Amino acid sequence: MIKIAVQKSGRLYDESLKLLKECGLHVDNGMDQLKAEVRNFPAEVYFLRNSDIPQYLEDGVVDIAIIGENVLYEKNANVFVLEKLGFSKCRLSIALPKNDEYSGITSLEGKKIATSYPNTLQKYLNEKNVNAEIHLISGSVEIAPNIGLADAICDLVSSGSTLFKNGLEEKDILFRSEACIAANPKALEDKKEIIDEILFRVQSVLKARDHRYILFNIPNHQIKTVGKMLPVLKSPTVLPLLDEGWSSMHSVIHVDDFWKVIRGLKEHGAQGILVIPVQNMVI
Ligand code: ATP
Ligand code: MG
Repeated sequence: MIKIAVQKSGRLYDESLKLLKECGLHVDNGMDQLKAEVRNFPAEVYFLRNSDIPQYLEDGVVDIAIIGENVLYEKNANVFVLEKLGFSKCRLSIALPKNDEYSGITSLEGKKIATSYPNTLQKYLNEKNVNAEIHLISGSVEIAPNIGLADAICDLVSSGSTLFKNGLEEKDILFRSEACIAANPKALEDKKEIIDEILFRVQSVLKARDHRYILFNIPNHQIKTVGKMLPVLKSPTVLPLLDEGWSSMHSVIHVDDFWKVIRGLKEHGAQGILVIPVQNMVI
């Protein structure tokens, strides 16, 4: 039995459960539950506060967790990051009121900085030999400068809209983060097989999210040229159409290549292009 921690509520919750579901784990979660069984897999899911997860993971109360890298770094947790998950991307940044002068972190010498990430900030200040006063605030850090509590803040930013609304400007990035799967070091040995199974599933789901299945009709004389334009797993499938002189080509492409490939296909006479999401991908 493996114990998996996910955030109880908040930014990571939806994507975490979605990922587990896509990995084929049916989590029987009710409202306000601390713990849920997984019906079809030897696992239990624990719903915990984000900020508590690193400690539980380090102590082995849970074996693996879906958690932001920023929290692991802040808590200096002795755990292993197994896989980055591509969601909850954010950065821990220094922000100041829009018109305040800033020419690097040394501008904050002797100033007050409000943050919920005191350890990460202190480490950064130490590295840069800057002395500043850290004000620990657990939420809504962005209002601190406006109410005169601090000169600057150090907080998580993604789009920057919260900063903008509060008249702040991002000036420096301390740390880039995204959600990851992390594991307790001992669990990695004791429960290797089951962790490998979960990781295998996660990787196949993540890979599938980045790819599309594409099929289209193409005049036969263009098959060779078009075949070269498709960055495929092995080699595209070609099936004859009933109409002579035409074939149907099938392939899998990366989303980053998507528009380039589509344009190329159209230029070479492709018709009836269909693009289909991929559920899982094992290569
Ligand atoms: P707790 O569950 O202990 O209340 P919290 O208040 O930090 O924790 P959230 O605000 O939901 O919880 O943030 C959870 C995680 O989501 C953060 O640790 C970070 O990894 C990520 N995150 C936070 N802010 C952003 C953001 N603006 N954009 C994207 N991801 C973010
Ligand atoms: Mg919170």
